Amino acid sequence: MCPSMNDNQDQGSSPYVPDTSAILTGKIDLLSMDCVLPSGVVGEIKKGRMGRIMENTAMSLRIMSPKKIFMEKITSAARNTGDLPYLSQVDMEILAVAMEIHGTVVSDDYSMQNVCSSSGIKFMGCGIESITKNIKWGYVCKGCGSKFDKVDASCRICGHKITRYPIRQGKL
Ligand SMILES: [Zn+2]
Repeated sequence: MCPSMNDNQDQGSSPYVPDTSAILTGKIDLLSMDCVLPSGVVGEIKKGRMGRIMENTAMSLRIMSPKKIFMEKITSAARNTGDLPYLSQVDMEILAVAMEIHGTVVSDDYSMQNVCSSSGIKFMGCGIESITKNIKWGYVCKGCGSKFDKVDASCRICGHKITRYPIRQGKL
């Protein structure tokens, strides 16, 4: 289990809704913890090297697809926070399922945590520290590592894709 799961206050009956990487860390015990898996997450895992494990445990897992109305709510929340371009279809499903069942998202993805934070969805990280408030982004080139203040279609130095990273106080 994640250390962060022990000191979490007031979990009540809120099921965990883990993302694919949270499951692949092996820190989520799918069978003994109260977990609900969006069908998209199950699909991603079946494609990977843990696919066989998933097939063996699938019978006892709670798998669901989010209702359309919750996908729409999440889409509009993510658009408002500016996180929409950074979320995959499966990410959106995780958020929508968590919203629908009042679950707790388990993800280290900053964009997902940011949308949770703005939509009142509970969340926790599974390794790196979770954010506690909305974050400021910096932009970095995946090719040459140059850092920029603003997002651009591609790096003006080497032409590779630009991705973003959270600027944390006291670091960088
Ligand atoms: Zn570059």
